[in-house]
Amino acid sequence: MVEAKTALDVALEQLRIAAEKLDLDPGVHEMLKHPKRSLIVSIITRRDNGETSVFTGCRVQHNDARGPFKGGIRYHPNVTLDEVTALAMWMTWKCAVADIPYGGAKGGVCCNPKEMSKGELERLTRRYTSLLLDFIGPYRDVPAPDVYTNAQTMAWIMDTFSQFKGYSVPECVTGKPISVGGSEGRAEATSRGVVLCAREAAKLLGLKMKDATVAVQGFGSVGWNAAKIANDWGCKVIAVSDSRGGIYFREGLNPYKVYEHKSKTGSVVDYPRCRNITNEELLELECDVLIPAALENQITRANADKIKAKIVAEGANGPTTPEADKVFHEKGIFLVPDILANSGGVTVSYFEWVQNLTREHWTLDEVNRKLEVKIVKAFKDIHKISKQNEEYMRTAALILGIGRVSEAIKTLGLWP
Ligand code: GLU
Repeated sequence: MVEAKTALDVALEQLRIAAEKLDLDPGVHEMLKHPKRSLIVSIITRRDNGETSVFTGCRVQHNDARGPFKGGIRYHPNVTLDEVTALAMWMTWKCAVADIPYGGAKGGVCCNPKEMSKGELERLTRRYTSLLLDFIGPYRDVPAPDVYTNAQTMAWIMDTFSQFKGYSVPECVTGKPISVGGSEGRAEATSRGVVLCAREAAKLLGLKMKDATVAVQGFGSVGWNAAKIANDWGCKVIAVSDSRGGIYFREGLNPYKVYEHKSKTGSVVDYPRCRNITNEELLELECDVLIPAALENQITRANADKIKAKIVAEGANGPTTPEADKVFHEKGIFLVPDILANSGGVTVSYFEWVQNLTREHWTLDEVNRKLEVKIVKAFKDIHKISKQNEEYMRTAALILGIGRVSEAIKTLGLWP
């Protein structure tokens, strides 16, 4: 029996690999293994039936050498401090890879949002925000959506923060609704970045996006938007899934119709004319592009060998373990690692923050153009490192990101 790895094991192993390649200063390596600050909070919430519940939440601030902490907040029953620490670390590397002036953070609340009403979620979010008040803010730490949080959650955070300040502070959080200072294109940005990266990888392999077959694991915000954009760009989306299972249709699904079906029934499963498949089967399908857009640790030593995709573009954070990376490399599967592939979300978060600070509102065209320039540049920089040093794309991305963070740490010096 292989011992299951946690997300933090994976993140620390990746850091170790990059540290070795970069010949990283041991002091800097040690510093980067640990978050700068982790805050654990007990969120007392009134339920709709009048009872109270206490949920445990946290905010982990990993590193802010390159700018304010930045990263999403997830609501999920399996949230742990270790997981959020790994996710915060990945945010540090991701912001550096995307070359935006932020450090990395992540927040999490251990709860099951599927079993909570809108009112309960609002009270939970506001109470959680009140507990983070001294630690977040436009120049300190800027939250955003993640698993099972959305633009509405961000609006509640903005309002709670603003109520305490006494004036409106839209720049304290990103991924907001457009009506309260959100950016055009933010809702789809992560997925647009994923599909742009898949396109760049396809170019390198001499594949055409038109009619490329795509399988997407996860039909939350990232997965659904990725399926939609891939479809709009002429790809054939042959399979999608959610936590209850997946569906497969060789001729290509219509993601819009599948979305309607999920809205009505709560899952993509049992969509007409499709074969129901498991999440494991989806990952192992014959296809050009596989987009894991669910949770961590989906592709491991146990199933990496069975992956038949030509390109894997990681919409989720940490879906692939280092052992699986090796297998991909041996099999010649082109991997676009998470800190590059899904960096479109935080990149447009940065655009949103800039727009809020300057009281501007850019057009969708402008946002999408700027996003494409940034992510294509990051892709090419990483690919170049990968070619020159004969490294995996993941290692190349870590070399670029961790190298930039280390440079900033050394330049700032150690106080006191
Ligand atoms: N949660 C997203 C991520 O993992 C977005 C973070 C952000 O926009 O700050 O990249």
